[in-house]
Amino acid sequence: MVSRVIPVDPFDLVIFGGTGDLARRKILPGLYRRFIAGQMPEDARVIGAARSELDDEGYRKDVRDALKEFVSKRALSEENIAAFLSRLHYVSIDAKGEGGWKKLAQTMRDDDDVVRAFYFSVAPSLFGDLAERLHLHKIAGANSRIVVEKPFGRDLESAKALNATLAEHFDETQIYRIDHYLGKETVQNLMAVRFGNVLFEPLWNAQYVDHIQITVAETVGVGGRGGYYDKSGAMRDMVQNHLMQLLCLIAMEPPSRFEPDAVRDEKLKVIRALEPVEPGDIVRGQYEGKGKTPSYHDDVEDGESRTESFIAMKLHVSNWRWAGTPFYVRTGKRLKARQSEIAVVFKDAPHSIFGEAAGRHRNILTIRLQPNEGMTLGVTIKEPGPGGMRLVDVPLDMSFADALGPEGDEIPEAYERLVMDVVRGNQTLFMRGDEVEAAWAWTDPIIEGWTKRDERPFAYEPGTAGPEESAMLLHREDRRWREIKE
Ligand code: NAD
Repeated sequence: MVSRVIPVDPFDLVIFGGTGDLARRKILPGLYRRFIAGQMPEDARVIGAARSELDDEGYRKDVRDALKEFVSKRALSEENIAAFLSRLHYVSIDAKGEGGWKKLAQTMRDDDDVVRAFYFSVAPSLFGDLAERLHLHKIAGANSRIVVEKPFGRDLESAKALNATLAEHFDETQIYRIDHYLGKETVQNLMAVRFGNVLFEPLWNAQYVDHIQITVAETVGVGGRGGYYDKSGAMRDMVQNHLMQLLCLIAMEPPSRFEPDAVRDEKLKVIRALEPVEPGDIVRGQYEGKGKTPSYHDDVEDGESRTESFIAMKLHVSNWRWAGTPFYVRTGKRLKARQSEIAVVFKDAPHSIFGEAAGRHRNILTIRLQPNEGMTLGVTIKEPGPGGMRLVDVPLDMSFADALGPEGDEIPEAYERLVMDVVRGNQTLFMRGDEVEAAWAWTDPIIEGWTKRDERPFAYEPGTAGPEESAMLLHREDRRWREIKE
């Protein structure tokens, strides 16, 4: 296959928090993979900036260890590692003080053709300090870009404050709010399938779609992040950002162009069209302990905590396209399998010419984000062989690995794609400030509702699909969740 990758300008990418967990696990391994794919220009450089006292060599050693741990053996070679590490530099910096900033200013190249990008891979409480000092020391200019990580606020008020702080120093066109779900190949393929074919769009509405399910299931508990997680819960940690973004891409109207503001305008309209959620349409859960597996209460060391580690909800997008079509979303920890998928469940054929015995068959478009990214369309066909007309559902596979050859199993990971988009100056797959605020404006009253009602989450056994009450959300309407399985 001939690669038609859009070239990338030379860049200096500074990773604040360059020694942290996210940088070691995702950002640096992603950059390494782009480097070996030949996508990093000759003179691109990566500058780690964090609190630890290290020199370039010390940092390179640390990153070498990270690559060995988080990049597949197949992609590692001494030659490549050495070449990649030679692009790395390090500046020890104090986000809250003056230490290191002069050195960082000197380390950056003074050349208008070199893109300056700053990845804020640090706690959000430091975002304001970083933005301010980048300006104070004239390190960031009109052509610089910043990348900010989740969580972007914990409610509307804090998100607005964060947006205002960043806006003091950066224009919206310079701010890249990352949601790595948008960087997944399949999520973009969803848009290609929806808007690149004539087949789907005519059916993509309440007339033909019975309902939509979005599931993000994890097997891990809150583990070492208990302190942080307990203040947040599944609604803030997963629904307000990741599930909401997926819902927007499914529900939005076709944008006029695949361009940042055209796409983000349409997503924003979806968020604004989301109706408030009735208490009876929300199920929150908390995992119990089992054998040696600790309970949620053990994990967060608070036996009274009412924070949810699971949530399922029935949502409505109130516009012409989706009137009457429910969107069921659920996410949780310590569930049966690690699985993220979107399922578009189409309506039954209006009349069955094959009679009762043929059973109920439905087309389901499944967009799987993990594991094994891919897309399948379930279609009904005749079961082969004699003996009458028996119907059977078979999946039409639209996965890249099969369709596009061996490169398919080397699909770039979300982070590497998104970092390269920052360097290219393409904001399409990043959240705009007003989107984030609209998402919180919808989320806040829901959380306030259950806090006021003083509700306890339902307990659920680890290794299941969550509390039984979640199944009831669909059963009562003669629907069922798709099975959570590897
Ligand atoms: P971490 O605690 O592992 O690393 C924090 C980094 O910040 C370190 O490099 C540290 O040196 C640096 N730092 C801390 N205080 C500093 C200061 N005053 N001046 C300069 N540098 C300072 O954190 P992490 O897990 O890498 O997370 C970083 C950010 O990314 C957080 O906002 C987190 O919420 C977000 N995030 C992390 C993950 C993940 O998987 N780890 C996933 C999504 C979002």
